[in-house]
Amino acid sequence: MSGDAARAAANPVGVHALVWVAGWSEPEARHAIARTREAGFDLIEIPLLDPRSVDAAMTRRLLEETGVAATCSLGLPFDADVSSADAAVVARGEALLTEAVDVTAALDARFLGGVVHSAMGKHLAAPTERGRRHAIEALRRVAERAAHREVTIGIEAVNRYESNLVNTAEQALALVDEIGAENVVVHLDSYHMNIEESDLGTPVHRCGARLGYVHVGESDRGYLGRGTVDFAALFQALADTGYAGPIVFESFSSVVVSPSFVSALAIWRDPWHDGLDVARSARAFLEVHLAAATAGRR
Ligand code: MN
Repeated sequence: MSGDAARAAANPVGVHALVWVAGWSEPEARHAIARTREAGFDLIEIPLLDPRSVDAAMTRRLLEETGVAATCSLGLPFDADVSSADAAVVARGEALLTEAVDVTAALDARFLGGVVHSAMGKHLAAPTERGRRHAIEALRRVAERAAHREVTIGIEAVNRYESNLVNTAEQALALVDEIGAENVVVHLDSYHMNIEESDLGTPVHRCGARLGYVHVGESDRGYLGRGTVDFAALFQALADTGYAGPIVFESFSSVVVSPSFVSALAIWRDPWHDGLDVARSARAFLEVHLAAATAGRR
């Protein structure tokens, strides 16, 4: 097998559903899954901000029809934050995560990642030690349930304006270690790394085999290659460490937004107007740059 073929076989390449649609009615799901395939991606990442609103049977049928795979993600709301010091808020967060695990499994998906460790949005204070302990205990129970359903949980390191608990790969690794479950991995995102890490290669090497999921986003969360993210360093590190997990394009524009995302992610302007164009551009960018990194594997 050539190096390129090995890479293509190794990393499923995906796109976040919010590039296509804001909601998940049957017409929206059909459109998003068809466009994912049309743009040349292997998988679609489906947001489970409100797990009960996702019709798993309908979605699974559409996925099977098109041969597109799925992963899932979410960001917890402030009233269901598992890192809260308030036990009632933690319980709501754990219940939401439990539902999300069940919907992920019902979709025949194998991954649930994102900001599952804290509320997604701007916090006004540092996390408390009690809150951090709450998050670890809740995620340990969620991971156990997920293990029975063959679902892996990803702890996404996001920038300081979207979480107060996990901003860096080091913090994600520490949390993963303390949760101590085989099916909990680090989820990195180039957009957030560009803000919080000193470079994009070192965190990947630090994570090693504990890295399980990667989001690629540009510095303005728009077209890949038109911002300041050092993708060459990221992809070289992924190739050098033999990372074989999904690589998923994430981009948000106010043209397509889920209302709950707008304020949490501060999507106040439009990096693009045409989802298909930005997705096709990202797919082509990944093809070229992942191949180049594999060819240059040290
Ligand atoms: Mn992300």
